Amino acid sequence: MITEQLISPKSIVIVGASGNPEKPGGKVLHNLIDHGYTGRIYAVNPKEIKLNGVQHFKSVKELPDADLAIIAIPADQCLETVEILLTKGVKAFIVFSAGFGEIGDAGIQIEVKLRELIENAGATLIGPNCIGVIQESYKGVFTTPIPDYYPDGCELISSSGATAVFIIEAAALTGLKFSNVYSIGNGAQNGVEEILEYMDEHFDNVSSPKIKLLYLEEIRNPFKFMKHTMSLIRKGCHIAAIKSGHSEAGSRAASSHTGALATSDDVVRALFRKCGIVYCSGREELISVAGIFQTKEFKGKNIAVITHAGGSAVMLTDALSANGLNVPHIGKEIAGDLLKQLNPGSSVENPIDFLATGTAEHLDAIINFCESYDGIDAMVVVFGSPGLINVRAVYEVLLNKMETCTKPIYPVLPSVVNAAEEIKFFLNHGKVNFSDEVVLGLALSHVASTPKDLFNKAKLPEMDHVTVRSIINASPSGFLDPKASLELLNAIGIDAAQQCICHHHDDLLKGIFSLEFPIVMKVVGPVHKTEVNGVRVNIQSSQEALTCFDELMKIPHAKGVLLQEMVSGEELYCGAVKSGDFGHLVLCGLGGIFLELIRDTSSALAPVTSQEADYMIKGLRGYPLITGYRNRKPLNEKKFNEIITRISALVHLFPEITELDLNPIIAMGDTMKVVDVRIKIE
Ligand code: ADP
Ligand code: MG
Repeated sequence: MITEQLISPKSIVIVGASGNPEKPGGKVLHNLIDHGYTGRIYAVNPKEIKLNGVQHFKSVKELPDADLAIIAIPADQCLETVEILLTKGVKAFIVFSAGFGEIGDAGIQIEVKLRELIENAGATLIGPNCIGVIQESYKGVFTTPIPDYYPDGCELISSSGATAVFIIEAAALTGLKFSNVYSIGNGAQNGVEEILEYMDEHFDNVSSPKIKLLYLEEIRNPFKFMKHTMSLIRKGCHIAAIKSGHSEAGSRAASSHTGALATSDDVVRALFRKCGIVYCSGREELISVAGIFQTKEFKGKNIAVITHAGGSAVMLTDALSANGLNVPHIGKEIAGDLLKQLNPGSSVENPIDFLATGTAEHLDAIINFCESYDGIDAMVVVFGSPGLINVRAVYEVLLNKMETCTKPIYPVLPSVVNAAEEIKFFLNHGKVNFSDEVVLGLALSHVASTPKDLFNKAKLPEMDHVTVRSIINASPSGFLDPKASLELLNAIGIDAAQQCICHHHDDLLKGIFSLEFPIVMKVVGPVHKTEVNGVRVNIQSSQEALTCFDELMKIPHAKGVLLQEMVSGEELYCGAVKSGDFGHLVLCGLGGIFLELIRDTSSALAPVTSQEADYMIKGLRGYPLITGYRNRKPLNEKKFNEIITRISALVHLFPEITELDLNPIIAMGDTMKVVDVRIKIE
C-alpha cells in the first residue's frame, strides 16, 4: 500500500537527523536540501542541528503534524517512535535502520510489529534496512549519486540498496535517464510486487515513466508480480529485470527427468517470458537493455554494424550471431554506390568498415544507405578515437541521424579518455552511449528474444475431467501405476503406444496376441528402467518373449512386465513440475534416455497457450529435426504443440500432480505416441 504522502510529502521528518553528512541521518538531510525539496523539513535529534531551511526538534513528541518520516535510529527504538509519529498524522515511513528481519527471530518480531502498527494506521512503510526513495519532489536517500530527475526516465525498484547505487553509478556515464527509485530493503509492507501494483494502478499514459528496471532478490507473490508487470507492459511499458539467488521454487526430489532438469532460474525466466520482461544477468546488461528501451523501438533481426574499428565490429558480430540476431551480408552489388563514396579499402560487406580515416560525411552516407535499405532493421555505430583527431563532427552526424532516422541507431563510443569531451557533448543531447559492444549485442538479443505477444489467455483444451479426477482420487501419493497413467493420457487426449501388463507366462502369451511382433518389453517397478537393463526392444517371437520375461522378473523390485508395440521415429519429450508458488513449469524438448545430458529443452509456466508452446518448440536447438532434418520427414509440429498445451492444462487443473514426464514420445510423420510416462501425485 503506497500513500500519496510517500510520493509527494508536504513535510518530512528525519528522526535520527545529524549535521554530519557522513551519517545516514545527516546525508539524507543534505540530499533533501541540496536537491531542492520545497516542503518543510523537521530534524529530530536530542543535540541541536543548525542547518538552513531545517527546523530542529529535540524529540518526536515536540513535532507538529507531518506527512513523511525518514527514520535512522536503532531498531529497538523504532516502534515507540513510530507510535508517536502516527499521532502526528504521519502517513508514510522510510526506515533506513537495520537490525530487523535480516538478523533473525528477534528482529523479525520487531519488523512484524512495525508493519502492523503502520498498516493499521493506513500508512506506508518502505524498508526497513533500505537506502530510501527518490521521487520528483524529494530525494529521500542517504546515498549518492542522485541522478537528475527526468519524468520519462527509468524507474528503478531494487531489493538491495547498494545494488541500486551501483546501477545508478554504472549508468551515470551512459546517459541513461532516471525518474523514481525505490529501494525496498526488507520489504516488510511493500515489496517489489506492491510498488508495481502502485505503478500499474496509477499509470497515466501521458505522464507515467514507461521504462521499469528491477533488481530482485525474491519474488514473494508471483501472481501479483505477473498481474501488474503484464498489465504495465500491455499499457506500453518496457520492463527489464535481474533476479539474483534462488527462487521459492520449492525443494523437489529429482525422481523425474523434469524434476532434475528444471532449475529455479528456469522458473524465473519462464515467469519473465510470460510477462514480457527482458531477463538480464547483471548490471551492465540491465543498463544496456534500458538504453535500448530508451532508443527507438527495435523490430526485426537484421543489424548493420558500422565502424572504423575492425576488432570491435568482429566481437559485436560474433555476439549478435551467436544469440539469434543477423548481421546480413550486404556487398558491392547492393551497396556499390555507397562504396564509391568511401575511402579506398573500405568495406560494405557488413560489418561496414569505413577505416580509421573515415569522416563524418562517410558516416552520413552509410547511415543514409542503411536507413533506406530494407534488409537492415537497426544500426550499431562503433566509433572512438585513437587520439589523433577530434571526433565531434562524427558525433554531430550521429546525433542528427539518431533523431531523423526511423530505424534505431545504437552508438558505442568507446574512447572515454581520448574523446571524453566529445562524448560529454554527445550525452548532453540526451542520447545514450553503450559502453561495450558485446554487452550491447547480448542486450539486443535479450530484447529480440523476449516475446511481446503471449498475452492471450490460455484456452484450456477439452479433456475428460471426471475420469482424470477419479483416477487421481483413487491413487495413493507417489507414482501412478502404468495402467492408471495410460488411462489418464487417454482421458486428456494424448496417444500412447498400445500396451498391456503381464505377471505370468499365461497372461504374457495372451498379451502377445493383442500386439504384433516386434514388441518391446519393460520391467514394471523400478522408476528408471534403462538403468537396470529393464527395457528390451525388438523382441521377435513368443519364445524370445518368454525368456525375456523371466530375465526382467529377476530385476530387484520387479512387479510385472509391460508389453508394448514397438514404435519407430524421433524421440520427443514433454514434462511438468510443480514449482512452489509459481505454479507448474512445463518443459518440452528432444527426448530419450540422454535427455538430461543433452538438455535441449525450453519451458513456460502453466497454463501454456498454443502461442507459447509454439515459441517453446521453435526455441529448441533441435528444432530442425522437427521440421525435417537432412531429408527426414517433418514431424507434426501442431500435434507436439497440442501435447504441450494438454499437459499444461492437466497440471494447471490438477495441482496434485507434482511431476510428470512423457519421455519419450515417439514421433513419425503425423503420429506421436507416448511410450513412457511417469506421473507423480501428492
Ligand atoms: P526409461 O526411461 O525408464 O529408461 P523408456 O520406456 O523410456 O525407459 O525406454 C528407454 C528407451 O527405449 C526409449 O528412449 C526408447 O529409445 C526405447 N523405447 C522404449 N519403448 C519403446 C517402444 N515402445 N518402441 C520403441 N522404442 C522404445
Ligand atoms: Mg523414459
